[in-house]
Amino acid sequence: MPHNTTVPQESVPGHADAAGNEVPHVPDALRTLYSDALALQLSTLRRDFHRHPELSWHEQRTSELLGTTLAGFGITDVKHVARTGLVARVPGRDRSAPVVALRGDIDALPIHEDTGLPFASINPGVMHACGHDVHATWAIAATRLLLESPAHGDVLVVFQPAEELGEGAREVIESGALDSVRAIFGGHVDRRFQVGQVVAQEGALAASTDTFHITITGAGSHGARPHESHDPIVGAAALIGALQTIVSRRLDPAQPGVVTVGTINAGTAANIIPDSVQLSGTIRATTSDARALLTGEVRRISEAIATGYGLTATVALRGGTPPIVNPAVPVSWAREAVTHVLGANALVPLGTTNMGGEDFAEYMQTIPGCFMRIGAREAGGRVIAAHSPSYYAAEDALFIGAAVLAESARVASEALGAS
Ligand SMILES: [Zn+2]
Ligand SMILES: [Zn+2]
Repeated sequence: MPHNTTVPQESVPGHADAAGNEVPHVPDALRTLYSDALALQLSTLRRDFHRHPELSWHEQRTSELLGTTLAGFGITDVKHVARTGLVARVPGRDRSAPVVALRGDIDALPIHEDTGLPFASINPGVMHACGHDVHATWAIAATRLLLESPAHGDVLVVFQPAEELGEGAREVIESGALDSVRAIFGGHVDRRFQVGQVVAQEGALAASTDTFHITITGAGSHGARPHESHDPIVGAAALIGALQTIVSRRLDPAQPGVVTVGTINAGTAANIIPDSVQLSGTIRATTSDARALLTGEVRRISEAIATGYGLTATVALRGGTPPIVNPAVPVSWAREAVTHVLGANALVPLGTTNMGGEDFAEYMQTIPGCFMRIGAREAGGRVIAAHSPSYYAAEDALFIGAAVLAESARVASEALGAS
């Protein structure tokens, strides 16, 4: 892959403070929230996370740096959860009022960075290609903003590991640390939207992520004597075509859904018919009905096609994260918060349904919440897909995301306290 020749302009030039330090640019609407010292601390922290990315369940350095920073803020109530995760409790004005939560995920991906950023990863083959360096930092920043201007009740700030595996949120929930939480907010940087735009809307925001593994078993033979075999390769070929009819012929065309075969493995030589073929793939949906239909049809068609070809199919379905479907009331709190922080014009529609997954959905199985998309494309920048070696989020998104999350916690806390 060719190396980028241009250095990305991910941050607007800042200014020098009295000591000659380069203070990062903070969007005009947020100047009163971030002192020069705080803006510099947050920018430095985000660049440090970006430079030192760690894979899911291996976020030790990240976790230690988060813990040290929280201690520096004077936060004493920090629980260690989910191996490398942290939950910090920020006191509210009324300690007995309902508790709300914010979540930032902290893990990186097995990708070799090719951004050309001055703070690019120094860990070969590991990269913050999904913007979780920004998410970790905006959770820290939101903590600080809530210390300076507390919510009505306490706010739990969750620093969550292993989002990329779809496993971290489940372990945080199992720790019991969020048992008392009445509303939860989170977000994702997104370069499809420019800095200053926020998506906070009702309905489907991310898809479910179920996985299938299929073994087609027949009987092998010499490649020249196919009549002595039950050829699993021919059966698998028919199955792959048939699986594509689930979305086109079984699912309501007005419903989004995906069935993708991602791997196929079989055989050892050109003149041998093997005994078996292994396939695996992913199933995406945005409603529980569509999810049940797609997974059920993958099993039914696999078994039926195998039978038709004189083969057997063993289908293993692994349930992944559910879809994110934002409910109305927490969305209204988030939208009010965005309006306070950036003005109503900042709110933009999602447009096309995102068929990616996000394990924030696990929290929303039991806690009402709102998951947002936070614009992260700088002026003049291009759309870059997450999980790409050239992905990065504009620095302004850090200050905006933190302010929106902190204010969402305040608005929700006020509403819950009053009801
Ligand atoms: Zn990701
Ligand atoms: Zn992500």
